[in-house]
Amino acid sequence: MIADQRLREIRQEISTCQLCQLAKERLNAVPGEGPSKVDIMFIGEAPGFHENRQGKPFVGQAGQFLDELLQAAGVNRDQVYITNVVKCRPPNNRDPLPEELKACQRYLDEQIALLDPQVIVTLGRISMAKFINDGRISAIHGRTHNVGNRKVVTMYHPAAALHQPNLRQTLIEDFARLKRFINTSNTTLSVDEEPESGVLPPTPEVTLTENVQESKKQEEKIIQKESEEQKPPEQLSLF
Ligand code: URA
Repeated sequence: MIADQRLREIRQEISTCQLCQLAKERLNAVPGEGPSKVDIMFIGEAPGFHENRQGKPFVGQAGQFLDELLQAAGVNRDQVYITNVVKCRPPNNRDPLPEELKACQRYLDEQIALLDPQVIVTLGRISMAKFINDGRISAIHGRTHNVGNRKVVTMYHPAAALHQPNLRQTLIEDFARLKRFINTSNTTLSVDEEPESGVLPPTPEVTLTENVQESKKQEEKIIQKESEEQKPPEQLSLF
């Protein structure tokens, strides 16, 4: 069966899925979108308010910023596949529960297997946790990891910058570095440029020092936030 057809079937299965409680309150499931042949796949956390209404990933404010970030990376949205680890909106945008992640896992796993992208870009810590066991996003944002035969690049979630404006530039710089994977002449991956370690080397040293300091500041803020008991909607789940 060709990938295209099976991807369409999965969309259909997701749209009528009843495997977890999120099915009860959803307006639309959000399977993901993009061509069936892609080099890069972006994986977010879960649909939000606007995605639930429209049935499409990243169409709200975070989505608008993602579009800008894709521009910084030199790719068009229609050249990449965009989806989430969880396909239905959790109430008040809370973090997906372990049982919800487990129920939805089969869909994302099959999407990845069918698309077989060379690069997966995770957006936020929930998506990152699917591939990286013990990383802190504040420490490893923008880095490339070898996972099986793929590269996994761990990014902050675009919505993080909506709540912490100082992350905006960090995200833009991290996305701009995705360009090293893109051969602009034919938009296929330029694997020659990959570092042997599988981890992107820093851009200029001055920037590294600034980034480390910035990263420390961000980490302190995030640790502080993570210890807060009251979690405002659409906030702490984003990193
Ligand atoms: N946040 C996500 O993680 N995914 C979306 O599709 C929208 C917002």
